Amino acid sequence: MAQSRGTTRVGYENKNGQVNIRPLGIPGTDHGQSLYHLNCTHCGFDYAANGSDTHLRKCPRCQGGNPSTGGWTPD
Ligand SMILES: [Zn+2]
Repeated sequence: MAQSRGTTRVGYENKNGQVNIRPLGIPGTDHGQSLYHLNCTHCGFDYAANGSDTHLRKCPRCQGGNPSTGGWTPD
């Protein structure tokens, strides 16, 4: 069955303009979580966040949000 929880859906955009690009397939830093690649619609910054945080994430670069979870970078 496909996972359909809204905030971990690819293409989901939260109120801060942060878009869920794709699941990264690597474990997150919270229990039972996995990481998702988020992209900022304001400045284009790429970073990772736990699935449970996608709905409230702020951009680390232009909104003063927390650094990329797990130190993930797109390179
Ligand atoms: Zn940004």
